[in-house]
Order: sequence, then C-alpha cells, then structure tokens
Amino acid sequence: MRIARVSLSPSMENVVYAAVDDSSARLYSAAPWRGGAPTGEVVKLDTVQLLAPVEPSKIVCIGRNYAAHAKELGSDVPKEPLLFLKPPSALLATGGTIVLPRESSRVEHEAELGVVIGARAKNVPRERALAHVLGYTCVGDITARDLQRSDGQWSRAKGFDTFCPVGPWIETELDPASLRISCRVNGATRQDGPTSDMIFPVPEIVAYVSRMMTLEPGDLIATGTPEGVGPLAPGDTIEIDVSGIGRLACQVRAAS
Ligand code: MG
Repeated sequence: MRIARVSLSPSMENVVYAAVDDSSARLYSAAPWRGGAPTGEVVKLDTVQLLAPVEPSKIVCIGRNYAAHAKELGSDVPKEPLLFLKPPSALLATGGTIVLPRESSRVEHEAELGVVIGARAKNVPRERALAHVLGYTCVGDITARDLQRSDGQWSRAKGFDTFCPVGPWIETELDPASLRISCRVNGATRQDGPTSDMIFPVPEIVAYVSRMMTLEPGDLIATGTPEGVGPLAPGDTIEIDVSGIGRLACQVRAAS
C-alpha cells in the first residue's frame, strides 16, 4: 500500500493522509500510525497536492553507510552506525524547491532510502526491528559539503530549511534489502546503487538507533547514500528514485 499525506485545497487548510494508487486517493481519518482508518471518501489523485508523507518528531540519519561513498569522501568506513539528526523544519515535499543558502558554496545531493517508523521502538532486537517499520520512502539528504567539513559537526550543513526532501509517499510492502536507489540531475544519472550494499542494513539500523533514542511512530530514518554525490546549482531539477516506491522530484534555486 502507498500512504501519502495530501492537501485537498491550495490553501493547505485541509491536510489528510490517504492510500493512493496511480489515479485515486482514498482518504484516511488520521495518520495510519495514529489509528487512522479509511473514511470512505475517494478523490482523484490529480486534484490533490502531495505533501511530505511524514510528520516526524525527529529525522535520524546514517552517515557513510555505503563503502564506496565513504571512499569518495576520503572517509573511513565506520565500525558502528554513524548517527546524526536533521530537524523536521528541513522537510520538503515532492515538487518543492531546494534553496541553496548563501552560507555555502557547495551543496550536494545524497539520494537515500527512508524508513518510516510505524510502532514505537525502544531497545528492539534486530530480529524484531522490521515489525516497527511502517514502510519506505525516498529521501534527499541535502548537504552543504563545505560547511560539513569546516564546522566539525553536521547540524548546520545538513539542517537548512528544504534540505530534507521526502516522498512522494510511503510504500509499505517492500524488502528494504533488495531495492535500487538512483539520483538524476537534469536527466543525467549521478547515483545508482543497490541497498544490498549498505554496511548496516535496515534491521540493524532500527535496532541500533532504538538503543539510543525512542523511535516514535512517524519518525524518519535516512539510511545513507551510495556513491556519486555531486553539486546542485540554481535551476537544476533533481529526481530521486527508489525501485518499488516511486520518484521524488524537486527544483533547485539560490536563496533570494
Ligand atoms: Mg546522507
């Protein structure tokens, strides 16, 4: 099932969750992870606006989770998952615009598989971790690479508004170990790699993170990026595809 969060009106005053297919949206009474159920109302998909499909209390990210990407950054492969956070204020929906901040002269794309938590997770063992996952989505871990290097920690470099595009929806029926992540900029492929190359696979990530911080329903985990990261420029179009999910597409502009 594909779960989306949609606005039924341009004024954004009527925002609901919905189960979507190629042409229609079946509206829900609330987020599925808060007990939402179908209301019986169905609308055409092309009459609604897709929003970021999650409202997380936190966005947990995994750094250097693909060996080839760690190598392209000149970094060692971590011995345990490398965690950092992005603020929920960085979220951006498909169709939105990534804003390149004046503080950076090098903003790069990182296409990633996003994991959406469906049931609270605290100290869950690896073997039961996927039972706490609702589904999967496409994420862009947009990064001011120059600031990441100069700051010594990553909050600013990863945390600007619009630096976390997510969507277009959550797909609930997938094996996270057998997907393919790709990123195209202006139609040219920049990244294309299998999730089977993850150093720490999804069950291990969920179990590991849940030892440090309680994962709440609706929380988002970005699981790291394959090799091929590169710069974004004003006027670019970026498309992030994860097989079995769909396409997250955004524009890029300079800060005004
Ligand atoms: Mg990343």
